[in-house]
Amino acid sequence: MTPSLPAEQVDLKSLLPEELRTLVSSLGQDEYRAGQLLSWIHGKGVEDIDQMSNLSRAFRQQLKEVAGVSRLREVQRQGAPGGQALKFLFELPTLERVEAVLIIDGKRRTACLSSQVGCPLDCKFCATGRMGFLGNLSAAQIIDQLLQVSRVLLSERGERITHVVMRGMGEPLLNYEQVVRALRLMRLEHGPAIGGRKVTVSTAGYVPGILRLAREDLNLGLAVSLNATTDELRDDLMPINRKFKIAELLAAAAEYFALRGRRVTFEYVLLAGVTDSDEDALRLADLTRGVPCKLNLIPYNELAEDTPFRRPPAERIARFRALLEAHTPMAVTLRESRGRDIDAACGQLYQAQERQRPARTAIATPVG
Ligand code: SAH
Repeated sequence: MTPSLPAEQVDLKSLLPEELRTLVSSLGQDEYRAGQLLSWIHGKGVEDIDQMSNLSRAFRQQLKEVAGVSRLREVQRQGAPGGQALKFLFELPTLERVEAVLIIDGKRRTACLSSQVGCPLDCKFCATGRMGFLGNLSAAQIIDQLLQVSRVLLSERGERITHVVMRGMGEPLLNYEQVVRALRLMRLEHGPAIGGRKVTVSTAGYVPGILRLAREDLNLGLAVSLNATTDELRDDLMPINRKFKIAELLAAAAEYFALRGRRVTFEYVLLAGVTDSDEDALRLADLTRGVPCKLNLIPYNELAEDTPFRRPPAERIARFRALLEAHTPMAVTLRESRGRDIDAACGQLYQAQERQRPARTAIATPVG
């Protein structure tokens, strides 16, 4: 096992089939060896090149000189009572930590994956936002979360992951290349074989990323975290709105639907006294009328850290939902966070852990 690779080595876990074919041919091997490597890495979860028994010893030796297979170190696993969610904390070679969550819901087995360490977007209600931005994950580190969660689900329950959502830590569209690369790898039949309709990318509203994703041949689901119905409030809650206003975001979502034929999901976090008024419900219905979409209401998960935000009382949530349903033709759902008991909302396990560790300095990154 190679948890962290020397800088000059290629991480085979990040390579797409065509890149692996180029690599194996450059080492004088037949191209079909690339498929064998993909099966070992993404299918069987093997990181030790010496265990890849259908490759000749000489080839394994050659391969080890130029390449390795990385793996995240699992440092904590925490399950919700009732077994509906299982949260994993992974450590990077830099000792930074990211989380992934397995969510069990009916027949669905969803892996929620992180795309960045921390996040540069600084949404005021989000635990990850409070960490600042520490770096992007590589495609290997993104897909490895899925591989490790899959392995645990298979060994403990004999089940397979059915869905993937990119809504753990970070803004996936600000780590576009690595995220899309990981999404291409997880579709391969050699590995988890999860693609298209089974995968959702969730964004805080990075418009150029949405427009670019709309042009990929991936047919992914897109979720947009809208969370406010006026630019004034959204500018405060989600500073990315100062660059990309609500109207522009809605237009990008409409374009996504036009090009991909898939309804966009608008996520709307209900914050007591901030985003949960009757006027908000009516404005939300109005704003989204022109975009074929689904509306997903998420009652706020209160953070362990002291933030000014609270979850609205149950009656307020019910009234908001009823009012919205009465005024929109779109499907409305209410998501009760399945990870609530284990702090599975965005970034919270990290927070709980991180309070006992020395602080690290975040990197300032302009969004543009
Ligand atoms: N950056 C991406 C994905 C990560 S955030 C995005 O913004 O979509 C995942 C979702 O969780 C977002 O919809 C965000 O608005 C929501 N969220 C963040 N903190 C939350 C909390 N404490 N309670 C409920 N939802 C939260």
